[in-house]
Amino acid sequence: MSPAADKTSIETPPRAPSPLHKFGTLAVHAGSPHDPSTGAVIESTGVGKPIGTYEYSRSSNPNRENFEKAIAAVEKAKYALAFSSGSATTAVILQSLASGSHVVSVSDVYGGTHRYFTQVASAHGVQVTFSPSIETDIEDLIRPNETKLIWIETPSNPTLKLVDIRAVATIAHQHGIMVVVDNTFLSPYIQNPLDHGADIVVHSVTKYINGHSDVLMGACAFNSPTLLSRLTFLQNAIGAVPSPFDCYLSHRGLKTLHLRARQSSLNAHLLATTLSSSPHTLLVNYPSLPTHPNHHLCALQHRDGLGGGMLSFRIKGGKEAAERFCLSTGIFVLAESLGGVESLCEVPSAMTHAGIPREAREGAGVWDDLVRLSVGVEEGEDLRRDVLQALERAVVGPKLRNGEGGGVNGYS
Ligand SMILES: *Cc1c(COP(=O)(O)O)cnc(C)c1O
Repeated sequence: MSPAADKTSIETPPRAPSPLHKFGTLAVHAGSPHDPSTGAVIESTGVGKPIGTYEYSRSSNPNRENFEKAIAAVEKAKYALAFSSGSATTAVILQSLASGSHVVSVSDVYGGTHRYFTQVASAHGVQVTFSPSIETDIEDLIRPNETKLIWIETPSNPTLKLVDIRAVATIAHQHGIMVVVDNTFLSPYIQNPLDHGADIVVHSVTKYINGHSDVLMGACAFNSPTLLSRLTFLQNAIGAVPSPFDCYLSHRGLKTLHLRARQSSLNAHLLATTLSSSPHTLLVNYPSLPTHPNHHLCALQHRDGLGGGMLSFRIKGGKEAAERFCLSTGIFVLAESLGGVESLCEVPSAMTHAGIPREAREGAGVWDDLVRLSVGVEEGEDLRRDVLQALERAVVGPKLRNGEGGGVNGYS
């Protein structure tokens, strides 16, 4: 061994967290200093008395600051801020725009984001234009001097279409426009939008980051000090801040995000493959399937080409079959929301997306027979068996009752 190599081998390793460390190490250590007086791994000082730096909990508290540091580390950002919900995060970013500003957004945004854009932002003079194909339309939709923000959600909900973040950011930046990416569906473990040119990344922490369906919270991360002072001011002035306890819970959730996100993705890929080869489905939307129209973006933007924990598919037999599927599962729970350890199923046209008029809904691929799955971290083989038996009951069962015959598999 050369003396140089020998020297490196005995050098003191970098103390965690350091930029040299990988995701799981950052998730466990970033923003988790040892408390100097108790040695506690997560500081949990209550705030109420003006001791030290913390005066009033809306302005700052240690649990929130530690969580924000951890989010900045795993999104590879300089700064992060936490809010009382994903929706509050969106609201504060939109509030930071001057009256008269214009925003271009992808059409398939989260329902609450769409509601804010169309019914709240307009009240303070911010207009939003929606585009179903932002990569090709952006140049035409930008209004000189008025457009200030581009809003992207990738993958889209519930059809899992991907947007080329770099392509949109390149054009936006030529016009001095900022790009926001809502990264809720993938979590920072699978995608880091700032790496692809985005200026702000937004999360509903409620979903994968907390991961246990027991907290409502949001966060955003970015690199600009100007944004930091503007958004910190609004965080305090508007007051849509999370409680210290929710920050503590979400921070604890973040420490296992890499394990949960990977397991959910592997499970979802297994189910997507199973559903694709089933005679009872018409179409499967899942980004890491080679047949997905944006498969190349999945390889480019997602860690290890992982597809994430969300998938949707069209079942044969229409709306009734979709509903029967959701009532026939033994592990998947019929519910909205997503990103928790437990697997969920729902029918978007009748539940999460029921508010969208039929024509617009179907134009975006949200047919009555579409089923959305939020795949949890249970055993993949158990989930696969659950999906197969529910398909049989939903599609073949009724035919048998109607005397059409067919090969039901003997599931009881
Ligand atoms: C849930 C969700 C939101 C809103 O977050 P809340 O925490 O429920 O306010 C925003 N974007 C996406 C993609 C979501 O799934």
